[in-house]
Amino acid sequence: GAAHEGILRRRSARESAARTYARALPIVPVRARGLTIEGADGRRYLDCLSGAGTLALGHNHPVVLEAIRKVIDSGAPLNVLDLATPVKDAFLTELFRTLPSGLRDRARVQFCGPAGTDAVEAAFELVRAATGRTGMIAFTGAYHGMTAGACDASGGAHDVRVARLPYPQDYRCPFGVGGERGAELPACWTESVLDDPESGVPLPAGVIVEPVQGEGGVIPSPDAWVRRLRQITAARSIPLIADEVQTGVGRTGAFWAVDHSGVTPDVMVLSKAIGGSLPLAVVVYRDDLDVWQPGAHAGTFRGNQLAMAAGTATLAYVRENRLSARAATLGSRMLTQLRELAAQYPGIGDVRGRGLMIGVEFVDAESEPGDTGWGVDGRGALDQRSGGAKAALENAGATGVLVDGSAGPDSRGQPGIRMAPAGGYGALG
Ligand code: PMP
Repeated sequence: GAAHEGILRRRSARESAARTYARALPIVPVRARGLTIEGADGRRYLDCLSGAGTLALGHNHPVVLEAIRKVIDSGAPLNVLDLATPVKDAFLTELFRTLPSGLRDRARVQFCGPAGTDAVEAAFELVRAATGRTGMIAFTGAYHGMTAGACDASGGAHDVRVARLPYPQDYRCPFGVGGERGAELPACWTESVLDDPESGVPLPAGVIVEPVQGEGGVIPSPDAWVRRLRQITAARSIPLIADEVQTGVGRTGAFWAVDHSGVTPDVMVLSKAIGGSLPLAVVVYRDDLDVWQPGAHAGTFRGNQLAMAAGTATLAYVRENRLSARAATLGSRMLTQLRELAAQYPGIGDVRGRGLMIGVEFVDAESEPGDTGWGVDGRGALDQRSGGAKAALENAGATGVLVDGSAGPDSRGQPGIRMAPAGGYGALG
C-alpha cells in the first residue's frame, strides 16, 4: 500500500547508492519465519538471502527467540564487555565442543567487535604479533570484510601488504587448472613465491583462506588443495587462518568447512551464524599463538549477551539435530536438480557448491560483469534470466524468490549473478 511505497521512496532517497539488496528489490519486510519473509505489500517471499549466511535455523526459530527472551527475562546485563557471565560460559562450552579435534583442547578465544571483519583484523593482528612478520597471503576472489586489513585481503584491493595467490576453481578457471587439478596449484606457488627470495614476497605472518569462497562466487576448494595448503604452511611455520565466517555452522554439510578435509587450522575466524542472527564474532586459535598481553585486543561490543545466547541455542540445535548432515543431503539433492536445469537452460553457466552453500552462475550475453542482477518474480531480471531455477525453488507457496547477487560493484569481474540458498536448513517446514 501507500505506507510500503512511502518507505521505499524515503529509503532510496536518503540511503547511500552503496546499498546492494535494497537497490532493486522493492520489498519492505515486516515479518519473517523460517525461509519466508512477508512484505508490507502482503506478499510472501522465499528468502535466499538468509541474512548473508547468519540464519542457520532460518528466521525467528523458536529456540533462538526463546534463548533471547530468557536472557531478557532473567534481568541479566546485556553488555558487560568481556566479563565472565553464565551466558558467555554456556556459549563457549557449546562453541568449543564443535571445534576440529586438533584445536578443541588447545583452543583460546578472543571476542572481537561485532562483525566478521573485526575477527579477521584480530586474526591478522594475532599472527603478526606471534610471528613478528607483517605480510599476509590471501587468494584471488577472496572476501574477508570491509575494514582496512580485511579489505586488502579481499579480491578487489591492490595493496602490496597482501600477496594474492590463485584459488582453485573449475568453471572458467583463469589458470587452466580447475577442479581436483587445482590441488597442484600450491606446489607451483610455493616454489615461485614462498621459497623464491627473488619473488618479492617475504615469508608472511599468515595465510588466510575460505574453504569455500562465498562472495567470490560460491567456489568450493578441493579437499586435497586444503590439505596441501596445510602441509605447506606447517612446514614453514606459517599460521593458517580459516575464515569460516560464511561457511560455518553446518552450512556446507560439515559443522565447519575444514572438517571436510580434516585439516586443523591454527586460527579460525567465526561470525555470522554463530550469533544466531545477532552480531557476534570471535577468533579462535591454538594456545601457543597467544602472545597477546592484557589489553592487546578490544572492542566495545564483545560482550553482546543476547547474541551469545542466540548463538548457543543455534549451535546446540544444529549439533543435536544433526543439521550438518541434513545440509549435506539436501544440498546434494539440490545440486543434482539444479544441474538438470543447467543442462536444459543455456542461461545457467555453472552449478556448484557444498552442502547448502550453493551457487548458480547465470550467463547472459546482455549481463555485464559486475551487474548484480537482483530480481523479484514478475518484474526483475530474475524472470528473464532464470525461469527454470526460479520454478524449482518456488515451491513453498511463496510468491517470489530473493536472489543473492554477486558482491556488488566490486564483484571483481565475476559475470552474471548467483543464487545462494544460504541458511534455513533447520527452518521449520
Ligand atoms: N569473511 C567472509 C568469508 C565473509 O563472507 C564475510 C561477510 N560476507 C566477512 C568475512 C565479513 O563479515 P562482516 O560483513 O560481518 O564484517
